[in-house]
Amino acid sequence: MSYSRRHLLQGSLAGGAAGILSGLVKGQEGGGADTIRKKPRGIIFCVSDGMSQGVLSMTEAFSNQLRGKGTTWWELLAGGQAVLGLMDTASSSSMVTDSAAASSAWSSGKRVPNGQINFDANGRRLESIGETLEKKRVRLGLVSTASITHATPAGFASSVIQRGQEDLIAPQYLNRVDVILGGGSRFFDPKVRRDKKDLFGSFAREKYDVVRSRDGLLKSKSRKILGTFSPGYIPYTIDRDQDKEMQKMVPTLAEMSGAAVSRFLDDDAPFLLQIEGARIDHAAHKNDIGAILHEQMAFDDAVAKVLAMTKGHDDILVILTSDHGNANPGLNGTGAGYRQTNDHFAKIAQIKGSAEFFLQRWNQTQSKSAAKLNQLMEATYGFKPSPQELEALMDRCAGKKVTEWSHQLSNPVGLLGQIVGNVTGVGWTGICHTSDPTQLTSIGPGAGEFSGLVRNDSIRERLLGLLLG
Ligand SMILES: [Zn+2]
Repeated sequence: MSYSRRHLLQGSLAGGAAGILSGLVKGQEGGGADTIRKKPRGIIFCVSDGMSQGVLSMTEAFSNQLRGKGTTWWELLAGGQAVLGLMDTASSSSMVTDSAAASSAWSSGKRVPNGQINFDANGRRLESIGETLEKKRVRLGLVSTASITHATPAGFASSVIQRGQEDLIAPQYLNRVDVILGGGSRFFDPKVRRDKKDLFGSFAREKYDVVRSRDGLLKSKSRKILGTFSPGYIPYTIDRDQDKEMQKMVPTLAEMSGAAVSRFLDDDAPFLLQIEGARIDHAAHKNDIGAILHEQMAFDDAVAKVLAMTKGHDDILVILTSDHGNANPGLNGTGAGYRQTNDHFAKIAQIKGSAEFFLQRWNQTQSKSAAKLNQLMEATYGFKPSPQELEALMDRCAGKKVTEWSHQLSNPVGLLGQIVGNVTGVGWTGICHTSDPTQLTSIGPGAGEFSGLVRNDSIRERLLGLLLG
């Protein structure tokens, strides 16, 4: 995919807001003010959940290294046709938002306390953007690698006082959301739901094609679809890539996104589609550099698919953003004159499994020994830890105290992240969400609405203004 490079940005990403905003002005010139101000028929809102700035830049380098090509998001930043901005993230209860409050801010237009979905600080129910659009006959789609009833998709189409009430979120999608693709079958399955309600049956009766496998998804042609491909989250891409069976059963985010977009390109109805790469956030919580870069590449593949499918359609706006940063991974220069940095970074390509997979394997290991842990480290990460690192990891995994001055990193994943960081050069600030503004990149009619520093609770008004205005 090639975007115009006539207006290459002067400011680098590392230059922060000044660089980004100088790119914005160029972007507006490059895209043409008329196109940018036109109203779109449909909006595709793509969320890389928990993506700190470093993830975007490291994925660009990682993709070049691994696949000999850069990422689509980076190309949009450099190409001059996209409008660039920053998302001002926060919730009503904290400078640091969770996904529930962030998606609620986008959807309801109000900042709410963390943990709540479209319910304000006084316990008042707020209307989600999906509920508003349903009344105006605007079609809605949700795609996610989390359970599809998880906070970010749920924020667009439901209202619940606690984000964990996924049993209550699922029925709210019926006839409000036409395209529902992701994990989380357990919230629809009568065998697993606490109230034993058969939601798969309810959706099927309302003319949804209910699919449970990758094959089923790729074959389905129905306008309305409910596809769930795992009981909970969709497996990490790095683990899926090592498992042939999983690859057969579980679609990629790009495949789910393609299936969703095709259903909105088939007719002329207005629509809003949210696509979430959810597990970037999960990998950040686990300080897992291998998983996060593979996950962000999979998200980028989905973005590439969306842009390829909508190419030539001048009535579709595509927005890329994140709801909040998470653990702020960053590549530190290593060696004299930082000359070892590239070699260290290149070691990430050897990693063959997520930290979650690694720790599961270790927990299942009978008769644990330093030699066995060493073996497992080498098989998963491609390097052997030092004897001191090995001893500390053994102790930490066994629940013993290990000296660690950062409270956030005082746990097995924090320690594992630091040991891997000693080899790759990547460090983490903690294991939690962060307060930084996130990227906001928009291309297509109406993109001009999303320039500069944009508060998360102003997104609803901007989206509705374009779709209904
Ligand atoms: Zn999170």
